[in-house]
Amino acid sequence: MAYDADNIFAKILRDEIPSTRVYEDDEFIAFRDIAPSAPTHIIVIPRLRDGVAPTGPAGLADEDAAMVGRLVLTATRIAEEQGLASEGYRLVMNSGEAAGQTVFHLHLHILGGGRLGPVA
Ligand code: 5GP
Repeated sequence: MAYDADNIFAKILRDEIPSTRVYEDDEFIAFRDIAPSAPTHIIVIPRLRDGVAPTGPAGLADEDAAMVGRLVLTATRIAEEQGLASEGYRLVMNSGEAAGQTVFHLHLHILGGGRLGPVA
């Protein structure tokens, strides 16, 4: 699947759609999910590189391995900053429509702030 530079998260990156950003650096931004599935629900996404981002887990290549590692580490730091770490939190990455992926720009969900139900 080709990356669509007009997907919702690309528009959030360009501030064409407003979002509540909780973190940003040179490589990632994080913002609150518009329809939270937990008391705290944050989305972490990579910025575009050469105008594109991976569409999701299924769009990753070997060369993305270090970036994905930094994405997870960044999410753990955000979870710590947001006060989720002591109680516990969940990191989720959906792949494909059957799994519920609706936005095809790689993203990691941080869910926490309360007791979460079973994953499946
Ligand atoms: P997915 O289902 O693709 O794994 O996750 C996409 C997430 O993006 C969903 O949890 C959905 O609520 C969130 N989302 C969709 N549109 C917007 C938006 O315009 N703003 C924000 N902040 N989140 C959005």
